[in-house]
Amino acid sequence: MIGFRESLLFMLSTPLYVLIIGAEVVMSYFQHRPYYSIKGVLQNCYLTLLNMGLDLLVRGFYIGVLVWVYQYRITEITTPWLYWLTLLILEDFAFYWLHRVDHFCRLFWAIHVTHHSSEEFNLTVGFRSSVLQPLYRFIYFVPIALLGFRAEDIVFMYSATQIYGIIVHTQYVGRLGFLEWFLVTPSHHRVHHASNVRYLDRNMGMMLIIWDRLFGTFAEETPEDPVRYGLTTNITDHSLGNLVFHEWKKLIDDLRIPGPFGQKIKYLLAPPGWSHDGRSQTADEMRQELGIGIETDEGLELKKIGELRSVQAMAGLANTQTASPETTITHNDHLPR
Ligand SMILES: [Zn+2]
Ligand SMILES: [Zn+2]
Repeated sequence: MIGFRESLLFMLSTPLYVLIIGAEVVMSYFQHRPYYSIKGVLQNCYLTLLNMGLDLLVRGFYIGVLVWVYQYRITEITTPWLYWLTLLILEDFAFYWLHRVDHFCRLFWAIHVTHHSSEEFNLTVGFRSSVLQPLYRFIYFVPIALLGFRAEDIVFMYSATQIYGIIVHTQYVGRLGFLEWFLVTPSHHRVHHASNVRYLDRNMGMMLIIWDRLFGTFAEETPEDPVRYGLTTNITDHSLGNLVFHEWKKLIDDLRIPGPFGQKIKYLLAPPGWSHDGRSQTADEMRQELGIGIETDEGLELKKIGELRSVQAMAGLANTQTASPETTITHNDHLPR
């Protein structure tokens, strides 16, 4: 069920990955930068293999759905360059919403969290896949098929743009000038993998950063608040099952808390960190409480970051926190309210 174009893409991209990952490993080794660990790389390989295996298993089904929907297309673009350009933009737009829901809905965060649970940030983290995502990703592409784009082209475009999505996982590339305005750059994606409160759930585009700028989820990397990679509360059990299901376990625990049906629905669908009794906070609640926000005055923002750091230092958390709203589960256990 893998088309010729995708096989070609695979054959062309594999040497590229080997080359740039090899260069990054060698450079970081000789520069004594702790970007890589064998354990981290093995985890990333394991997660990508699981993801690829599941994708192959369900590929026939989701392509079938897209082919079926395509029959009822409401329009068609016949100019090839316009067809492919429109497909690229539409698919990137769809991916932005998929990724945004992954971050703002606990059920999907439980799947996506694996991509964020690495405390390292290097090119192999690009392969640290959300294992179960192939089960539902295609739903976001259904409107694209309805707009007259063939199933095999949609799948091919996703594979092609993923190559870009992988190579932005690096600490070796700084700011990229005017490209920062419209493309997702390594700097933007470093922010995406940060656990710093101001950076949580930011920069969710795959190729284009314009969606984040348009829909209020953009944050710039700032030297005053260096990125700490990972989750706000990092996982300590790196066993193979826990790597994939640790957030599911917490979610099930929360669903077992006695309460009305609406409470259970909120634990399932509200943003990560939501709690019925205020014992944990969402990323937005934390930002609000700390006065951190992209729309606030820069001076105030930096002041608040300073305050946050001293609070963390008091709580003995400095330099130990890592990324993701999952951290919000325990966050207010540590921060004075
Ligand atoms: Zn993400
Ligand atoms: Zn990433």
